[in-house]
Amino acid sequence: MKIKTKEISHPILKEKEIKLFIKRIDLIHTFISGNKWYKLKYNLLEAKKQNTNTVLTFGGAYSNHISATSFAAKEKGFKSIGIISGEETLPLNDTLDFAKKQGMSTHYVSRSDYRKKYTDDFIDKLREKFGNFYLVPEGGTNELAVKGAQEILDRNDTQDFICTAIGTGGTISGIINSSCDNQKVLGFPAIKGGEDLEKDISEWTNKENWKLFSDYHFGGYAKISEGLIHFIMDFYNIQNIPLDAVYTGKMMMGILDLVAKDYFAKGSEILAIHTGGLQGNIGFNKRFGLNLPHNL
Ligand SMILES: *Cc1c(COP(=O)(O)O)cnc(C)c1O
Repeated sequence: MKIKTKEISHPILKEKEIKLFIKRIDLIHTFISGNKWYKLKYNLLEAKKQNTNTVLTFGGAYSNHISATSFAAKEKGFKSIGIISGEETLPLNDTLDFAKKQGMSTHYVSRSDYRKKYTDDFIDKLREKFGNFYLVPEGGTNELAVKGAQEILDRNDTQDFICTAIGTGGTISGIINSSCDNQKVLGFPAIKGGEDLEKDISEWTNKENWKLFSDYHFGGYAKISEGLIHFIMDFYNIQNIPLDAVYTGKMMMGILDLVAKDYFAKGSEILAIHTGGLQGNIGFNKRFGLNLPHNL
């Protein structure tokens, strides 16, 4: 599969003599977008191998992972179950409405129960209720997801720096594993206070050519500021590339801020991974009366 990589032009890049490229893995599939396609790939193969006909996973009400899993499961002939954090609100938002239309059966659990989702007790109850299923963790991150994410980079991606947004850390772990030692992988957590992230990532990779920048979450997960909205709108108008408000918009603002602050030496080349997430912009548009780009 040929994934498009495009050079970004921006006055600050010109001034600092830095080249910035964006790899559009968001375009790999309309509904199984970006990193979620890679993270699900080997998990669904494993589910087939285990002869299960049902995939169960977890997510928030606007989750890109829930959206992608609902479609991928249907496409591969699985039933899917989504355990959703919080109470059901009607009418359903676009993410959950989409998931339902793909045949995902959704079950809501309180936020406190949701926190216990990986305990034996909680999973036993799920098995009692739903029978046998293949469990994909929240955000899709497990060993097979990291294996899939290792395929995001290919031998044409020779830039000095590779940048990606981070949720659970599965995607960056795969990218680190397949990066070259002379490359540096930079991660931009979308979550405030992700102290455990470094530890989690260290469990998925043995390499040390990576660094996290924890100051670009703009208030925390799914928190948006006016500055971020303006940035995404300008970026779309000038580059014709839509960025999402939860992950890739924050990463791109972070990269350009680091360029402005001379983090990168003159002549450096950077590759930013567009991990997708654009379905989430629809939810922001409806909730906040915005007009963020989304391609759907
Ligand atoms: C899920 C997601 C991420 C985070 O991926 P992790 O593997 O959980 O770190 C990043 N970007 C987008 C667009 C996502 O949907």
